[in-house]
Amino acid sequence: MKYIGAHVSAQGGVENAPVNANRIGARAFALFTKNQKQWFSNPLTKTSIKAFRENCEKFDYKPFQILPHDSYLINLGHPEEGPLEKSRTSFLDEMQRCEQLGLDRLNFHPGSHLNAISTEECLTRIAESINIVLDKTKGVTAVIENTAGQGTNLGHTFEQIREIIQKVGDKSRVGVCIDTCHAFTSGYNVKTTEGFAETFRKFDEIIGFNYLKGMHLNDSKKDLGTRVDRHDNLGIGLLGEEIFSLIMNDSRFDNMPLILETPDESLWEAEIRKLYSLIKT
Ligand SMILES: [Zn+2]
Ligand SMILES: [Zn+2]
Repeated sequence: MKYIGAHVSAQGGVENAPVNANRIGARAFALFTKNQKQWFSNPLTKTSIKAFRENCEKFDYKPFQILPHDSYLINLGHPEEGPLEKSRTSFLDEMQRCEQLGLDRLNFHPGSHLNAISTEECLTRIAESINIVLDKTKGVTAVIENTAGQGTNLGHTFEQIREIIQKVGDKSRVGVCIDTCHAFTSGYNVKTTEGFAETFRKFDEIIGFNYLKGMHLNDSKKDLGTRVDRHDNLGIGLLGEEIFSLIMNDSRFDNMPLILETPDESLWEAEIRKLYSLIKT
């Protein structure tokens, strides 16, 4: 079964996210559990947590259909001690928010070396950060997102992601989310049928489909290998439609949140409908 949704607004409280998702016909959703531009926010209130759980129940969203995203400020591989500590504390807070909401996964960008440490050292720090946070939480999987490789962002190759996973102690609580736009601009030619098959053959060989906990379905404003992260609405960017049809008809992407992060949110409802219509019976 395919669960398609979008990264919906949680403005006014996390409990509004399932309502917003339901309104656009989404069968999955992503959200920020706090202001994504701040390091720390007020704790979730009991009322808000209760309302979130009730709304998820009401609109039939189970934890495996929900993919929260952490704050963009967090860099779990930061070269300096101060900001690294702050990132780890903030990430722990995000994982605890997921615990409180009864969610089972948290999606994040691995980290950036900022030209101050080696790729190797940065990947080790990221894995250490994950280990520290997993030790202090229960039931929530840390889901590493592949990146476009913009600037000094790591996680733009399957090998880098594997390296992080290899250094994580509890393999049952680490996962991966593949963003189609990031995959394409980082250099994986997922645009063609052959390229798509080859990319996911490599993914399975290097990382393994058992680690896949979600997907971000985005078109791209930038071309193959440009390493620039600019999402576009489906069918409008350079990725084309083939890839989405391939995903929709591939059981390896069943039973996980498939999330739109496309820029024009007025198109989400139509994009969700479009994606479901690509399923060949
Ligand atoms: Zn992301
Ligand atoms: Zn993404």
